[in-house]
Amino acid sequence: MTLSNTRIIANYTEQSFDHRPSVCLGKSLPLGHLQKRTVQEKPMQFTDSEQQIVDRFDTDVSRERWRDWKWQLKHCIKDVATFEKLLDYTFPEAKRKDIEATIAKFPMAITPYYLSLIDTDNVENDPIFKQSFPDVRELDIADYDMEDPLHEDADSPVTGITHRYPDRVLFLISNTCAMYCRHCTRKRKVGDVDSIPDREQIKAGLDYIRNAPQVRDVLLSGGDPPLMLSDDYLDGYSQS
Ligand code: SF4
Repeated sequence: MTLSNTRIIANYTEQSFDHRPSVCLGKSLPLGHLQKRTVQEKPMQFTDSEQQIVDRFDTDVSRERWRDWKWQLKHCIKDVATFEKLLDYTFPEAKRKDIEATIAKFPMAITPYYLSLIDTDNVENDPIFKQSFPDVRELDIADYDMEDPLHEDADSPVTGITHRYPDRVLFLISNTCAMYCRHCTRKRKVGDVDSIPDREQIKAGLDYIRNAPQVRDVLLSGGDPPLMLSDDYLDGYSQS
């Protein structure tokens, strides 16, 4: 059996991202729907906010590099000091400690492009900031909070597979994303170095799917596998 019926979610954001899909839980589309969309060509110059960030990098950043999704991934902002430097913004010391404690449990990743969308006149009230930047309240655990809010573990015959509906499974093959959304419903695993699927886990998942002929759809998920894993690696899954 192959994984040729895999359905993925398409979410094109900018032409510079090579029309690659990003994946998240939600609606799904057949692969055949991954057609090139007509998008507006963006001007080959930086916006004012992009230029300010680019000027604060230690190396030269061309517009071509900025528009290269691999460059964006490589230069994700993952710590408070880099955030402060690139946005020319300073947190009070106590707040910085809170943020660092939050990042230690739930990692941060913000692409430079996303950083450039934050309103520097109103940083901490900006919706992009709130979506992407850690808040110490993430560490508050209330009585009504659930360890597994999607009840995935109960429907998991082997680690990394969620088999809730007869003809489809969710296959977690990566737990990294270009940006870690603070509201992520899978944040107990996403970005956690102890939850990176290893070779044995992947093999067990593939074996399970091979032995479940009723399964027609396999959703490769994580994390954000189509963006964070290479095409060759993903091709390997569809051939397995
Ligand atoms: S952090 Fe969570 S919600 Fe955000 S892209 Fe990754 S899996 Fe999706």
